[in-house]
Amino acid sequence: MRHKKPPFIAGNWKMHMTIPETRSLLSALVKAGPDLPEAQLVVIPPFTALSEAAKLLLDTLIQLGAQNLFWEEKGAYTGEISGPMLSDTGCRYVVIGHSERRQYFDETDGSVNKKIFAALKSGLIPIVCIGETLEEREAKQTIPKVESQLRQGLSGLSAAQFSEIILAYEPIWAIGTGRTATPAQAEEVQAFIRAKLAEKHGNEAASCAIIIYGGSVKPANSYSLFKEKNIDGFLVGGASLEAESFIQITKEAIRAYKEEQ
Ligand code: PEP
Repeated sequence: MRHKKPPFIAGNWKMHMTIPETRSLLSALVKAGPDLPEAQLVVIPPFTALSEAAKLLLDTLIQLGAQNLFWEEKGAYTGEISGPMLSDTGCRYVVIGHSERRQYFDETDGSVNKKIFAALKSGLIPIVCIGETLEEREAKQTIPKVESQLRQGLSGLSAAQFSEIILAYEPIWAIGTGRTATPAQAEEVQAFIRAKLAEKHGNEAASCAIIIYGGSVKPANSYSLFKEKNIDGFLVGGASLEAESFIQITKEAIRAYKEEQ
């Protein structure tokens, strides 16, 4: 029997937040942190705010992540940021293959795969995003799409490397749209992902894997989503830009977590 893990909740700020805005949001989160000890909180600011965020999060339990990286360590790649640069800035996590990067910047499962290896080599924990479009869901292609993203994106990972990554199921039709997957819709895919991981790496590894959900997570749906067996936390976009809603999402997930103990 799998026990519920403490909620893992990451806030993807996307292309938002200047340095003064970063200071103000993080000071509120840092203040609230001690009241949320059951959750693992991660903030994922834009590159320009990482250094400032790292300073503000020093000596707190809130961790830092980046939204992307390039797979080479250094060189003539104008505009790119490498794994060692992110580690050096104080990042512990990096998002890879977010649907917005796949959609606007031509990320593929192949580039996702290279980035996962690059992140691990730099000691970063990848948060790997997968999920289907609305057309794919309506054509009953959700499971084949997710299966193919897992197969290609995670290709070549050893069991040890696999145990260091976090998977985020993010149905594209639910991102930034206000249209959340129902807990049952999310759970169906999350359970499938865990079963696939079990097939490849065994039950123990699959059961330890952190698989989070993303797509219009809000204070009002956090509790019911987190109640699902295979949802270990959230990747939160819009609602992570305000301290109050991010904290409320966390509190609701903690409430669901405590009921399972
Ligand atoms: C995201 O950015 O990964 C996301 C899920 O965004 P939102 O919560 O705004 O849907």
